[in-house]
Amino acid sequence: MTLIDTHCHLDFPEFDSWREQAITAARDAGLDTIIVPGVSAQYFERVLALSRHYPDFIKPALGLHPCFMAQHQESDLEQLEQHLETTPGVIAVGEIGLDFFIQDAQPERQIELFRLQLLLAQRHELPVLLHVRKAHDEVLKQLRRIPLKRGGIVHAFSGSQQQARQYVELGFRLGFGGAMTYARATKLRRLASELPLEWLVLETDAPDMPLDGYRDQPNFPAQVARVAALLAELRQCEVGLISCVTSQTARSLLRL
Ligand SMILES: [Zn+2]
Repeated sequence: MTLIDTHCHLDFPEFDSWREQAITAARDAGLDTIIVPGVSAQYFERVLALSRHYPDFIKPALGLHPCFMAQHQESDLEQLEQHLETTPGVIAVGEIGLDFFIQDAQPERQIELFRLQLLLAQRHELPVLLHVRKAHDEVLKQLRRIPLKRGGIVHAFSGSQQQARQYVELGFRLGFGGAMTYARATKLRRLASELPLEWLVLETDAPDMPLDGYRDQPNFPAQVARVAALLAELRQCEVGLISCVTSQTARSLLRL
């Protein structure tokens, strides 16, 4: 059994005192790949250094996250493009997207930055890793305007069944993680059990989004095994099927 955590912020300082342990635990839990998306230019080097240190295990993506608008500078886009052109091994543009849920969201600035990064992904024929909150229709609109050959992943998917279908038609797959471990997440659980398994990939979003029962500690990548087990329970199938299909989906989408 192999598992892939398609979204894990292993570069965040929350892991500084136990990163090695978290990586060992992830391998022991059956993971063979962790995707680490960059969120802001000041951390690009941190993400890349981590992937150089564990070249067979950690794969980097680079992007400018909509929740860090205050940190982004005009030159960051050039830096991103520079990496896409010259740094080998960057597997996707991400984490990018739109978040209209945060305070002082500045939707116009977010949309502009998002569009510029979609154009970069288009030009470099890379998939994108999306963060979308309260903005699925706007994101779908922009993806139709700037179609991507290789699609991408909607991380921590929280939309409707109809939106799920629209993303898939645009070449996307949907990330499911800790949020569905909460019994009150009935809508998300229904989606996780009803959508075609080929549409889904697994993630933790660690150190964020701790699973139910683990809320007093930071989340960690080995937990993707619990996410897989829950998905198997919800779909009433073998966990081996979940790990096999979701890993294959991630592998072919991200060319791992
Ligand atoms: Zn994230």
